Amino acid sequence: MTTPPEKAKPRIATVSLAGCFGCHMSLLDMDERLFDLVAQVQFDRSPLTDIKTIGACDVGLIEGGIANEENLHVLRNFREQCHILVAVGACAINGGVPAMRNSYTALECLEESYLDGIGLMDAQIPNDAEIPPLLDKVYPLHEIVKIDAFLPGCPPSADAIWACIEELLQKTPVHLSRIMIHYD
Ligand code: SF4
Repeated sequence: MTTPPEKAKPRIATVSLAGCFGCHMSLLDMDERLFDLVAQVQFDRSPLTDIKTIGACDVGLIEGGIANEENLHVLRNFREQCHILVAVGACAINGGVPAMRNSYTALECLEESYLDGIGLMDAQIPNDAEIPPLLDKVYPLHEIVKIDAFLPGCPPSADAIWACIEELLQKTPVHLSRIMIHYD
């Protein structure tokens, strides 16, 4: 009797766009539950795997908002490849701290950062072709593509991220208890 082929595990991808990696640190805060997670899923593109391109995935977790052309490209790529896309954390959901620059033009931000800021001397605005141009402002994910679930918090707790992933893997709608949801 032949052994049936092993069922393919669900694939998960994660990425940090205009964020601080704090949401990914919260993911790592799942501690020993990470062993349970890797037993259940296969990680695709993620800082955890260092894979740079994304293939077809069941779930994509995105930290950070959209501040530059590269963020835009990566977000659209995730949307094309992920069946379910989750905005993780305040920056992904409403722009967060990076969106504080939205009161100024992109040029004003660059001038303050590289020309006019305290302690800057003989500086210039970098313009290497490899540096992605800034967008006019920082956008939350849902203003660019359809987002299927939102996980608030700065960052969301490890418990909330774990519960969210578990519910998505069980194909049930994400419904976190109030105690897991916070907005700070
Ligand atoms: S939501 Fe908070 S922890 Fe997450 S990327 Fe933004 S600033 Fe960092």
